[in-house]
Amino acid sequence: MTQMQTVTRQDFDAVMVPNYNPAAVIPVRGQGSRVWDQDNREYIDLAGGIAVSALGHCHPAMVQALQAQSERLWHLSNVMTNEPAIRLAQKLVAATFADRVYFCNSGAEANEAAFKLARRYASDHFGPEKHEIISFQQAFHGRTLFTVSVGGQPKYTEGFGPVPGGLHHALYNDLDSLREVISDRTCAVVMEPMQGEGGIVPATPEFIRGVRELCDQHNALLIFDEVQTGMGRTGHLYAYEAYGVKPDILSSAKGLGGGFPVGAMLTTEKVAASFVVGTHGSTYGGNPLACAVAEAVLEQVNTPTLLSGVQARNKQLRAGLEAIAAETGAFREVRGMGLLMGAEVAEPFAGQARAFLNAALDAGVMVLVAGLNVVRFAPALNIPEADLDLGLQRFAEGVRKVVAQASAAA
Ligand SMILES: *Cc1c(COP(=O)(O)O)cnc(C)c1O
Repeated sequence: MTQMQTVTRQDFDAVMVPNYNPAAVIPVRGQGSRVWDQDNREYIDLAGGIAVSALGHCHPAMVQALQAQSERLWHLSNVMTNEPAIRLAQKLVAATFADRVYFCNSGAEANEAAFKLARRYASDHFGPEKHEIISFQQAFHGRTLFTVSVGGQPKYTEGFGPVPGGLHHALYNDLDSLREVISDRTCAVVMEPMQGEGGIVPATPEFIRGVRELCDQHNALLIFDEVQTGMGRTGHLYAYEAYGVKPDILSSAKGLGGGFPVGAMLTTEKVAASFVVGTHGSTYGGNPLACAVAEAVLEQVNTPTLLSGVQARNKQLRAGLEAIAAETGAFREVRGMGLLMGAEVAEPFAGQARAFLNAALDAGVMVLVAGLNVVRFAPALNIPEADLDLGLQRFAEGVRKVVAQASAAA
C-alpha cells in the first residue's frame, strides 16, 4: 500500500474549485452518531451529512452489505442487470405507491429523470405543447441546469442562463397562486412535501390535497421530491404517507444509500411506459455496490420499530430545542417533522443562522443551516437518545455563547 500523506484544511483551498467553504476541521472517522476529527476531537452528529446518514456512520448492516458485494461484483453498466438492483427495486415497489423504479446516483439525477419523464409522458399522450413544469418558490431540486432552473431559488441560476424554458414558480402553501399558473399546458407540478433547503417548511394537508386535485383537473403529473424527506426521515418511509396523497412520480436519494451515492425515481406502470428503451439512462445507475447498500438501509429503516423511534426522537429533539429557545430567546420558532427539524432565529439574529452552526461545532456538535435564518437538524434516525441529549446540551452551550457575544457587543 502507498503511504498516505498528511493533508490539511489549508490544502483544500489550494486544489479545490472554490464552490464550497468547508469547516476548519477534517473528520476522519465516524461510528453511529459520533464523529472524530484529525485531532481525535469528538463531535455529536446532528447533521447526518444533510439527511443522508440515516443509520449513522458505519452501521454494521451497511458495512456488511458493502463488504460482501465488494467481493462479488462492482460494476456492469446497464448492458446487464444485476441482483442487488432487482432486489432493491422489488422492495421499493412493495413498500410504496410505485410499480416501477429507475436508478441513478443522486437526487438531482432522480429529479432530472422525473422531469424528462413527465415531459415525455405528456408528449406521448397529449402532444408537445403540454410541456410546462410548475414548482414552488424556495424549492430545491438539485444543481444540474434543468433541476436548478425548476428549483425556486433564483440565486442558484444567476449567471448560468439561458435556462430551459416552460418553467413556472408558484407560492408554496398557496393554492390560489398555483391556480394562476396551472393550465392544460402543464405536464407536471413538482413539490417537496416539506421544503428542506428552503427553510424546513412543511406543506399543509389542505395544500397537498389541493395540488393533487388541480393536477388531476389538468391532466398534470404530481411529482414529490422526497430526496430529503424520504427514507424514514419524517417517521414514515416516505412523507406522502403522512398526508395520504399519492404522487405519480417520486424522487428519492440522500438517505436511500445511507452515505453511499444512489438515487431512485419511482413511478407507476402507466407513466413509466413512456421511458421506452433508449430514451434515458445512466452508466452507474443501478450499480451493484450502491444497490446492495441501499437494500440493507431499506431493510433497517422500513420497520415499525425504527419508524416509531423517529417519532419518539422528534419529541425529544423538539422539546430540547424549545427549551433552548425559551431559555436564550435565540429562536422564534421550532418546526419540522420526524428528524428533520428547523429552529428559525429570532429577529436580533436575522441572517445569522450560520453563527449558531459555527458555535455548535466549537462546542462539539454538528448541525446544519437551511438558508440564512434556520438552523437545521437531521440526525441519524437511530441516534441513541443519550447522544441526542448530549448533542442538545452542546448545542445549548454554543447558542449561549452566540447570545452572550451579541449582548456584549450591543
Ligand atoms: C439534496 C436535495 C436534492 C439534490 O440531491 P443531490 O444528491 O445533491 O443531487 C434534490 N431535492 C431535494 C429536496 C434535496 O434536498
